[in-house]
Amino acid sequence: MRLQIALPFALLLAAATAAAQPYVGPIIDMHLHVGPAAPGAPNPVTGEPTTAGTDAERERLTLERMRRHGIVLGLVSGPDAYMASMRRAGGDAIRAGAFMDDGRTRLPPPGVLREAFASGELSVLGEIGAQYHGLDAGAEWFEPYLALAEEFDLPVGIHTGLGPPGTPYGCCPDFSVELGNPKLLEPMLKRHPKLRVWLMHAGWPWLQETKALMYVYPQLHADISVINWIIPRQEFHDYLQALMTAGLGDRLMFGSDQMVWPEAITLAVEGTDSAPFLTPAQKRAIFHDNAARFLRLDAPSGD
Ligand SMILES: [Zn+2]
Repeated sequence: MRLQIALPFALLLAAATAAAQPYVGPIIDMHLHVGPAAPGAPNPVTGEPTTAGTDAERERLTLERMRRHGIVLGLVSGPDAYMASMRRAGGDAIRAGAFMDDGRTRLPPPGVLREAFASGELSVLGEIGAQYHGLDAGAEWFEPYLALAEEFDLPVGIHTGLGPPGTPYGCCPDFSVELGNPKLLEPMLKRHPKLRVWLMHAGWPWLQETKALMYVYPQLHADISVINWIIPRQEFHDYLQALMTAGLGDRLMFGSDQMVWPEAITLAVEGTDSAPFLTPAQKRAIFHDNAARFLRLDAPSGD
């Protein structure tokens, strides 16, 4: 009698322990930022001031967090000098992208970017924060850049979904919620069927549109950056679960969207790792394998 009770309990305990096992495999972070430090800036989730008080600390502590969590590759964007410095410090673990940020920086002219892509200094087109500039990345203005991405076979990461609360009252009066709707990218996907595009922030909170777009365009990927730590965890898990249930788990990729808080990398890893519905195989896919395949990391160099 005692055994009959004890056995199911032991099995339950074993199952709970397995589910709580932290992920220990390699990670690819599809979404990191470099740039000047913001000393004292409170983390939007914890309220604690950033651990990075200087530019050098922001870089060093970001690389330290990457190593701590087994992040073998990080895609970074930010001002050129900071990306160059990060590449020197991080070596093969860092790839730099041409980017548009939250209102101050726009993409350089295509001719200038061509040089950077040709030299290998930049190897990604993204983060493209067109939404912050009041621009639709699915529209014509972006075409010369997409032509470049096609020519050099570069992945293209486009900011979708959210912006920080109060964005239009602060940095970016041209920002609009509607411009974050992933469905705006459909014309671009139709014009460029071979382009490797990913939705940054997985389109949150545009769940139906993200599902529709990813279902119809099987090449389209998404990163789960920022939503895995900045929004309420239950909301993130519900969203992630909905994307998993929709059968999109082999195209979702981990990202942190570390900005001025190196410790956000830990929050992003925990936010993802704590999703109770993910199997170890699904975690491995999201943390590493989907991005490795998307980025063709196993392709011979020069390919
Ligand atoms: Zn973004």
